[in-house]
Amino acid sequence: LHGCFLIASSVSILLNSPAIRPILTLVTSCLWFLAISIIAHGANIYERTERRRNQAELAFRKLAIEDTLTGTLNRRGFLAQADSVIRQLELDAADGGVLEIDIDNLKTINDVAGTAIGDELIVRLGAIISRAVRKSDIVARLEADRFGVILRNASLSDSCQVAEKFLSVFRESNAAEIDGFGNATASAGISSLKTGGYDLRNLLLQVDLALRSAKTQGRNRSEIYRPGEAIRQSETLKLAFELQHALARDQISIVYQPQIDLSSGRLVGAEALARWEHPSFGRVPPDRFIPLAESNGHIISIGTWIMNSACGQLRLWIEAGHSNMTVAVNVSVHQLKDPGFVDVVLKTLTANEVSPNGLVLEITESVSMTSGDIGIETMRKLSSIGIRIALDDFGTGYSSLSYLRLLPCDYLKIDRSFIMDLPGNLDAVSIARAIIGMGRSLGLKIIAEGVENQEQAEFLQSLWCEEAQGYFYSRPLSPGEFLAWIQSWADAKMKPAKSLYGGQNG
Ligand code: C2E
Ligand code: CA
Ligand code: CA
Repeated sequence: LHGCFLIASSVSILLNSPAIRPILTLVTSCLWFLAISIIAHGANIYERTERRRNQAELAFRKLAIEDTLTGTLNRRGFLAQADSVIRQLELDAADGGVLEIDIDNLKTINDVAGTAIGDELIVRLGAIISRAVRKSDIVARLEADRFGVILRNASLSDSCQVAEKFLSVFRESNAAEIDGFGNATASAGISSLKTGGYDLRNLLLQVDLALRSAKTQGRNRSEIYRPGEAIRQSETLKLAFELQHALARDQISIVYQPQIDLSSGRLVGAEALARWEHPSFGRVPPDRFIPLAESNGHIISIGTWIMNSACGQLRLWIEAGHSNMTVAVNVSVHQLKDPGFVDVVLKTLTANEVSPNGLVLEITESVSMTSGDIGIETMRKLSSIGIRIALDDFGTGYSSLSYLRLLPCDYLKIDRSFIMDLPGNLDAVSIARAIIGMGRSLGLKIIAEGVENQEQAEFLQSLWCEEAQGYFYSRPLSPGEFLAWIQSWADAKMKPAKSLYGGQNG
């Protein structure tokens, strides 16, 4: 203790000495300066870190709700923002449109043209939608090529107009760019907040169903959600499932409708038309099951089977003495685009010992226009083999004369809708006359479908239409009925000319 006391008193004497005091003041100041600098630097670092953290958080939040490919919102962003917009509109008792838009056949485009083209199409569709809506509306890429849109204060009819605008601008922006695909198109499903009860989950379900219905109805269109759609679609799903086994279970058959030469009244051929008889669904019309088979790919096997059976039937007719007859088979766009199609046709002809000029392939005018270069190339190959091609449903697809010249076809088949109103309706008369004139100027044969009475038959003949087919001559018939019909038709021909067209409605 004594020692400590001695040290303390010596330090105190030293500190109080006048020589040490200035040095001490300097040291204290330095220490203060150092302390303040350290604190300031620390604060600076803290602020910078904090700012960086905020920026990172903002970027992260943006990333979390934004789609990097298109710059629109992503699904998460859509769900978050849509919910609050819907709540607000509900409070205001205002309506709004909900849309789902998606590119048609993107998978095929990716497979054939490459994913870079697919991505470009997605970006383009996103830009078209974003540009067309108001700032306060919501646009998001919900998944792959599917966009969701919420239009504030829009009625159902406003939404339809907007959707149609998206689709047409998108279609036009792709004109003839994608090799072999014609124009890439998109489809849309539409509902409104009021229809969906301001419930986002419900609304997404409704636009999904509507979009699916747009796809099954042939794509490149918009569809409004209809109540009961879920039931209809579950029926369609059941049908699609059953269709997988229809061939194996012998439920598909073919009926044949006679085709007549108008000037001689001679039977020149028959169109093969598919029928599906299901044990519990009953007879499913081809207008219903062919699009289904097209959407799930079964059309290739069903189409091949139909062509094979039709050629087999032609062989039987030839053997029965009707050697100049042809058989016409309807071809779907999927078959036409199938790389193996020409081979399948050749093999079918060989297997049934039918010469190429016995087969006519009916391709709808719109299919020939949308199947692109691949389709036209296939038509050329088939035509060079000697198979004849008929443009079916002609008049409904707006083909121009210059376009027609590009197509290797032999027949124009005037659509039933134009024949129906002949000869009383002046518009129908001028359309029929124009089609026949156009076809003849290109050296094509003209066949009229859906001829139901003698007046129509005589009028068409007076316009120089070569061939006709329709209930006036006969309904489509089973092979057995067809043979009986041939006999009765020959018998009728033996009678005076006036009763040649006997109104055989079979
Ligand atoms: P489409 O090729 O235009 O066939 C003509 C349709 O009109 C047939 O209907 C035929 O039964 C019907 N029809 C014929 N004459 C008359 C008439 O005088 N009046 C009326 N009102 N109708 C008549 P169907 O058999 O129901 O076929 C409908 C469509 O289904 C066909 O139209 C075709 O697009 C498609 N289809 C039918 N079979 C096949 C097939 O084997 N393959 C493909 N890809 N499509 C097929
Ligand atoms: Ca046809
Ligand atoms: Ca037709």
